[in-house]
Amino acid sequence: MKKHNTKVILPNFIYDLKSLAAALRVHINTVRRWSKEGLPSIENSGLFLGSSIKQFLIEKSKKSRVRLAQDEFYCFKCRKGTLSKTSAIEFKVIGKLFSSQVAKVIIKGICKECGRNINRYASGDTIEKFKKIYKKDV
Ligand SMILES: [Zn+2]
Repeated sequence: MKKHNTKVILPNFIYDLKSLAAALRVHINTVRRWSKEGLPSIENSGLFLGSSIKQFLIEKSKKSRVRLAQDEFYCFKCRKGTLSKTSAIEFKVIGKLFSSQVAKVIIKGICKECGRNINRYASGDTIEKFKKIYKKDV
């Protein structure tokens, strides 16, 4: 999802739908949606306090950050963590970290759900886990 620049929001300033949409350069319907999603308005007036807006958007962006499980890839089409078809898994070594002997690798796969190519950058432990899960060698 798009990250909003909360720095432009003044904590002690009161915004209405229009001025908030303008400040963040989003459509007014986006602000309406946030309001439905829980952006608190001052005594249901349809006015929003800057500090509440900031807090709401920061919490929202934390929630939407995708945490991948050990065996997952991020699929840009599905917009979430997905698994790869096992047969499609490939490890491509792209170099070794200077300070250690840990290889850096791109793991290539194909999304089980939509069939799109998916990649994940990995090193060290993550590679070992992928090898075990997908039973493949580099
Ligand atoms: Zn997918």
